[in-house]
Amino acid sequence: MPYGEIADNLRRVQDEIAAAAGRAGRDPGEVTLVVVTKTRGLDEVRAAVAAGATDLGENYVQEMEAKAEALAGEDVRWHAIGHLQTNKVRKIAPFVTLVHSVDSVRVARELDTRASAAGRRVPFLLQVNVSGEDSKFGVGVDDAEALAVEVCGLEAARLVGLMTMPPYVEDPEANRPHFQRLREVRERLVAAGVAEADLRHLSMGMSGDFGVAVEEGATLVRVGTAIFGARD
Ligand SMILES: *Cc1c(COP(=O)(O)O)cnc(C)c1O
Repeated sequence: MPYGEIADNLRRVQDEIAAAAGRAGRDPGEVTLVVVTKTRGLDEVRAAVAAGATDLGENYVQEMEAKAEALAGEDVRWHAIGHLQTNKVRKIAPFVTLVHSVDSVRVARELDTRASAAGRRVPFLLQVNVSGEDSKFGVGVDDAEALAVEVCGLEAARLVGLMTMPPYVEDPEANRPHFQRLREVRERLVAAGVAEADLRHLSMGMSGDFGVAVEEGATLVRVGTAIFGARD
C-alpha cells in the first residue's frame, strides 16, 4: 500500500475512535490506538510511525524483537498481543510496554520473574475468552476470577486490566454483546475483591469493530487491516 494511504488510514481510524468516544460521552484521550504491525514490512511500519503511530502491537516475539531493534531510535511503545509461550517471555520483558495476552498463572509468574530480573515493572492484561469459542486462546469467563485473584498480587508484573478477541464478524454490532461481557467480567472481579485500579484497562476492538468497542468502554483498540490493508 502506498505510504500516503497508510497515513490517511491512520488519521481516519483516529477520527473514528474520537467520534465513537464522543457518542459514548467519553474522552478520546482515554483510548490508546495500538497499531498492529504483524506481517508488515519495516517500511510500512515506519510510514505509520512517521504519520503519528506511537503504540505498536505484534503477535510474534521474534518479529517484535526485530522491529523494535530496527526502530530503536523512534519514540514508540511495543505491545505484545499474541499468545505467549513461557519460554518467550524472557525476550520481551526488558522492553515491552504492555502484555495483552496473559491467560495462565504460569505465564504471569514468568513475566514477573523476568520483569524483576530486568529491573522493570511490566503491566499486563488477562485475555478472557468471552465468546466461548474453542479455537481461541484466553481464560474462560468462569475461570477469570480465580486467575485474577491469583495474579493480582504480583509485584514486577502488574495486572492492569482485561483483553478479549471475539470472532471476526461482518457486522460490528454482532460483537457488542462480547464487549459488554468483558465489562461484566470486570465487574465480577471487582466484586470478588480485585482492586478497580488493577482492572482499569479493557483491550478490545479490531479493524472491523473498534468503534463499537470504544462505545462499550475500550481503553485500548488493536487495529491492523484498517490501517495497512489486508494481510497476505
Ligand atoms: C491481528 C490482530 C489484531 C488486528 O486485527 P485487524 O483485523 O487486522 O485489525 C488485533 N488483535 C490481535 C490479537 C491480533 O492478532
